[in-house]
Amino acid sequence: MPKFPFLFYCCACGQPNELKPDVPLAPNIKPLNVECSNCGDKTHVILSACPKCKNAFQFFLSDLDFPEEMKRLAETYVKLIAGIRDSLSDHIAEFNVPVPKRWTHLLECNCGHQYNVEIPLPQLD
Ligand SMILES: [Zn+2]
Ligand SMILES: [Zn+2]
Repeated sequence: MPKFPFLFYCCACGQPNELKPDVPLAPNIKPLNVECSNCGDKTHVILSACPKCKNAFQFFLSDLDFPEEMKRLAETYVKLIAGIRDSLSDHIAEFNVPVPKRWTHLLECNCGHQYNVEIPLPQLD
């Protein structure tokens, strides 16, 4: 994994925080919980490097732990479908509901390369 120096300015107090995280190449992502060294404010950052030039990365800032929230929502959905399926098992032979395998998001790097980042989602058993 390439390491990138990353200067992060706190959204709450403006304090620069210097980080050197390992960043995986897309479509893999690395969620990071950044805590400001000055005020302790926490921000979730998602890191991913361009698979072509490998020397740039994109990030999102959010108050939510986005990948976790996404997985939790998907899990609720999957459980709901499984519940419906099980309650209908005496009445229908086959039950098929398409469930998305992953959340994807298209990014464009400074080098011009477009690529997807992905979060794998829980599946129906
Ligand atoms: Zn701060
Ligand atoms: Zn690139």
